[in-house]
Amino acid sequence: MPDASSQLKKTPVSLVALDGYDDDARVAQALAAALEPFGGMGGIVHSGDRVLLKANLLAPAKPDEAVTSHPAIVRAVIRAVKAAGASRVMVGDSPGVGTTRETMRASGILRVVEEEGAEMASFERVAVFENLENTLGKRLELTEHLLQTDVLITLPKLKTHVQMGYTGALKNQYGLVVGTRKAQYHFRFQNRDRLADLMIDINRTAKVKLAILDAVVAMEGPGPHGGRPRKIGALVVGTDLPAVDVVGCQLIGLDPQSYPLLQAAARAGYGTTDPECIEVIGKSIAELRVADFELIKAPANIMRILPLPGWMLRWLRRHIADRPHIDRSKCIRCMKCHNGCPVKPSAIDPRREGDCVNQRTCIRCYCCHEFCPVNAIELRRSWVERIFHLKTIGTAGSWLVGKIAGLYHRHK
Ligand code: SF4
Ligand code: SF4
Repeated sequence: MPDASSQLKKTPVSLVALDGYDDDARVAQALAAALEPFGGMGGIVHSGDRVLLKANLLAPAKPDEAVTSHPAIVRAVIRAVKAAGASRVMVGDSPGVGTTRETMRASGILRVVEEEGAEMASFERVAVFENLENTLGKRLELTEHLLQTDVLITLPKLKTHVQMGYTGALKNQYGLVVGTRKAQYHFRFQNRDRLADLMIDINRTAKVKLAILDAVVAMEGPGPHGGRPRKIGALVVGTDLPAVDVVGCQLIGLDPQSYPLLQAAARAGYGTTDPECIEVIGKSIAELRVADFELIKAPANIMRILPLPGWMLRWLRRHIADRPHIDRSKCIRCMKCHNGCPVKPSAIDPRREGDCVNQRTCIRCYCCHEFCPVNAIELRRSWVERIFHLKTIGTAGSWLVGKIAGLYHRHK
């Protein structure tokens, strides 16, 4: 990954059109076209390499729900990687909900892995990785599969994200953190900026060689689990992950500068975050952009830049950020929200009378919203927001908060 300050020429990102997933040959063709500026897959994978494909296996869901990586993309990538001479191809993740096998089976990826002679990589055991360049996580516990990997390729799905606004190439590596450690990090880094810094540390440590962002059918609305599939018809491919996410954001009309992970990447000097420094090859963004893509407008966005003491941010978080609530008519009492909540004792319990969520201890990480298999968890507007209509004054508020934060950061 090149250092942003040392770039002499623009960072290439491929943007190709792909209408759907039904035709394997067309998916393979689109992938090959997208890889051309990088010397094809042979420019990334060399003979004998052990390759790990980091899929997005958030939760068991059918491919057309746009929750996980799509099996057709996984198939095309396995084939390309094998054709480039890989000696071993693993496909894995540490799902937020259920086991890797369950999630892979539901998404159709397990069948593809078996048919194509790849291996399922269930991230369960960890190894410690040191990186003194990192901002927060100089010693990170990540899946030990990285020790058996020569080339890591990430296969994110473009989705909205209730906490971060967007999820794509950079955020997909959070799945390298195994099981409950993810929830522990959510609890430890309640400030969104710090969590974003940590995610950049994870990316820097994992040394991803290539990102293939699936924006053929993305997710809009309250993603990354409870939103709606939305066709964009694009593959975004690159070796510089922040640059891939810049293009991903632009496709859905999200200002890349507002995305916490790109802000964190800029702070860390990791990759290319300035749209002016990116050369989009293939289609133009204007050709594929979806003008009315439904983005997240959570007022919790304010929290990341407010220059206030921790206790005040916690108070604001509790009183302004959206509150999780269980819709009892949908709840199947699987207890996944309860077991996955990083707060101990759990802040959510579907068996509790009245409000199932302890709004006092809940840290608004929205893991429960991600984990719920039947979308029974709603994010309701807080009383402060309802009274003052914070969302409707969001633009002016964001501008004002941005100015305050700018002054604050200049004087730090
Ligand atoms: S109840 Fe949900 S949003 Fe609140 S802390 Fe637990 S998992 Fe996070
Ligand atoms: S709210 Fe969702 S995750 Fe929680 S118990 Fe009910 S169905 Fe399961």
